[in-house]
Amino acid sequence: MRDNDCLFCKIIAGDIPSAKVYEDEYVFAFRDINPQAPVHILVVPKEHIRCADDINGENSAYVAHCFEAIAKIAKAEGLKDGYRVVNNCGEYGGQTVMHLHFHIIGGTKLSEKII
Ligand code: 5GP
Ligand code: ZN
Repeated sequence: MRDNDCLFCKIIAGDIPSAKVYEDEYVFAFRDINPQAPVHILVVPKEHIRCADDINGENSAYVAHCFEAIAKIAKAEGLKDGYRVVNNCGEYGGQTVMHLHFHIIGGTKLSEKII
């Protein structure tokens, strides 16, 4: 289901342009507009799930597909030495767009201090 007020729902629908890197029935992935590393891609489920708190037995297949997509995208982007997957949840987690998404961050050796 789409939320008409949601930025990422608009990006998935193509109403707002993005640099798409991957799409299938369940998942849409595009480059972050403000990259924090040489590769910074956002992987989002095509279902409007607000945040990790809202994952449940009815929608968790979307999350599984996100991680299948992450593996494909990482290979396609040449991230053979590794990368980080980040999910920010809620205000204290630093989530700014309330549509569940996973950041793929890589293309360089990352600090070990982020987590
Ligand atoms: P959060 O802070 O919610 O985990 O991550 C939201 C991410 O969305 C941020 O890294 C931000 O740069 C990215 N972002 C926000 N607006 C847009 C946009 O319009 N297009 C793209 N490609 N990324 C966006
Ligand atoms: Zn949404």
